[in-house]
Amino acid sequence: MDKTELRRSLLSQRQALSSAQWQGQSQKICEQIQSQDLFQQAKTILVYLSHRQEPDLGSLFTVYPQKHWGLPRCQGRDLVWHYWQPEATMITNRYGIREPEANLPVVPGEEVDLILVPCVGCDRSGYRLGYGGGYYDRLLSQPLWQTKPTLGITFAFGYLEKLPINPWDVTLQGVCTEQEISYIQPESLKT
Ligand code: ADP
Ligand code: MG
Repeated sequence: MDKTELRRSLLSQRQALSSAQWQGQSQKICEQIQSQDLFQQAKTILVYLSHRQEPDLGSLFTVYPQKHWGLPRCQGRDLVWHYWQPEATMITNRYGIREPEANLPVVPGEEVDLILVPCVGCDRSGYRLGYGGGYYDRLLSQPLWQTKPTLGITFAFGYLEKLPINPWDVTLQGVCTEQEISYIQPESLKT
């Protein structure tokens, strides 16, 4: 299957989850994330608001209000990150995704300890399938962001052996599903 077909198939599987399954599996993903030292030690974490039945990480913001949370806003072809606050004014962008208003304070990239990356699918090498906009590929290819710890978030049916990839696709450092968290071994360490 090519990316477009695979995206469609995985999105329809996700959309077919009942609300109870979606909530239960999202809760398990939150528990997996919370069990990690990487998460516990992170002070500033970039996250997303669940859209089209993406795993809902909302309980993390409420359980850990002392962490600094950042949410993305699409600006042209880039993502700009703003601090999330419960009272923050959100708007709906051209993709139908809720995002912070442009005048809210911006999270300096240097401060970011962990990025929780929403994925339509992921594979065992850490490659990610998104909605097709390439936003995270562009972000994570920049020098400041290349080395940031990243955890791809997907339900287990989206965690595949091998995704179709293009030269611009970047890899994530780990993948979290309701069943497991796995950290990807860098190519350079493989024998
Ligand atoms: P997604 O990663 O969202 O699943 P794709 O990998 O299919 O989407 O990429 C979508 C588009 O993003 C491609 O058309 C590609 O040209 C563009 N793109 C991705 N990364 C970069 C980059 N680093 N520089 C310029 N364009 C990029
Ligand atoms: Mg890509």
